Amino acid sequence: MFKKSQELYQQGLVNLVGAVNSPVRAFASVGGNPLFIKKAKGSKIIDVDGNSYIDLVLSYGPMILGHRHKKVQKAITKALKNGYSFGASTKNEIKLAKIVCDAFPGMDKVRFVNSGTEAVLSGIRLARAFTGKDKIIKFSGCYHGHQDALLVAAGSGLATLSLPGSKGVPEGAVKNTLIANYNDLESVKAHFEEHDDIAGVILEPVAGNMGVVTPQNNFLKELKEYLKSKGALLIVDEVMTGFRSKFGGAQELFDVEADITCLGKVIGGGFPVGAYGARNEIMEMVAPLGGMYQAGTLSGNPIAMAGGIATLTELKKQNPYEKFNEIAQIIEVFLLESAKKYGIEITVNRFGSMINPFFTNKKVTNFDEAQTCDTEKFAVFFWEMMKNGVFLPPSQFEAWFLSSALSEKDIEKIAKAIDKSMEAVSKM
Ligand SMILES: *Cc1c(COP(=O)(O)O)cnc(C)c1O
Repeated sequence: MFKKSQELYQQGLVNLVGAVNSPVRAFASVGGNPLFIKKAKGSKIIDVDGNSYIDLVLSYGPMILGHRHKKVQKAITKALKNGYSFGASTKNEIKLAKIVCDAFPGMDKVRFVNSGTEAVLSGIRLARAFTGKDKIIKFSGCYHGHQDALLVAAGSGLATLSLPGSKGVPEGAVKNTLIANYNDLESVKAHFEEHDDIAGVILEPVAGNMGVVTPQNNFLKELKEYLKSKGALLIVDEVMTGFRSKFGGAQELFDVEADITCLGKVIGGGFPVGAYGARNEIMEMVAPLGGMYQAGTLSGNPIAMAGGIATLTELKKQNPYEKFNEIAQIIEVFLLESAKKYGIEITVNRFGSMINPFFTNKKVTNFDEAQTCDTEKFAVFFWEMMKNGVFLPPSQFEAWFLSSALSEKDIEKIAKAIDKSMEAVSKM
């Protein structure tokens, strides 16, 4: 089934690290080798061996409209004719900035960068610049990209490889990073009682990098209010959730306004775009208006801007968020019923178009609880899903993503695959 992927893997090992350019693609935690993709269209992705899968990876989120949506394709093709990069401003940067600022009430201004990692590292620098304080609180299990300061207790990629943090991160780089527990405001307050130089708190408003973990009760609102009383900033990392849970991201759904918002993934519709933004008072700290330096040769790239504008415009028009909820609910029921049928204990967490089962009998509301999962069961489940034509993220600790290209037939196919895969798990 994977003969050509295997051959390319062997070839790739020579000049690429593990034949991949991002570790989760290595399939290490499910005991396999990387898959090599030939092409994708709509809800489907096709590998070099010609296997076709319903894609629930969607490039880890960006391809929310499915692959090669015709409006996006048209916009990019048109942009390509004018040139690839100029090192000077273009009209489309203004257009995408307006779409983004309109969607997030807390954003008067935005700066485009090239990845989620860059968006967050710039957002953190901005919080420090604005408050004049150094310390940042992050939550265990939240991933914010691979910058040094936040590469501790950082969820999926590391959890999958059972790494506590990363080698090569100097102690000095993380000495201003404090770790709190997700859904636990007291653990945040404890840090404030001990330190008086905390610039802010960063979090995923719905965590997606330890599997899907939703904020419980009024966690986000109470956190925001508490931070306000302390003069610290709330940095909301919506790289995964922005335009995915709702057009205005998780902030709109939970009615919480970030001081600084970080975006990525969907905003570029498959092209490398990240962004960070805030109200004027904060963004005016950023060069050229202010003294916080941040720059990028390819930032605001014209092809990427065209892809982003076309994706967000189409997304707004489709407004698929209700439908996403319905589909996720259907998948949840399939998972629970099928697990029950075969006597397997699972917990299913979902939020909008993000969903995944945890192979545990515990409720999962934080990273420790996520860690109670049986990852071997997930591995068996994963490969059976692949054999039955559904491409999932190869890790227990990643969210599955839905695209608006999913058809009813696709959903039936997913249901059948789930049943077969649960059966396989029951025979372990
Ligand atoms: C993916 C992700 C990032 C990192 O984005 P990259 O584009 O991979 O650098 C940061 N934060 C969250 C919440 C993410 O899901």
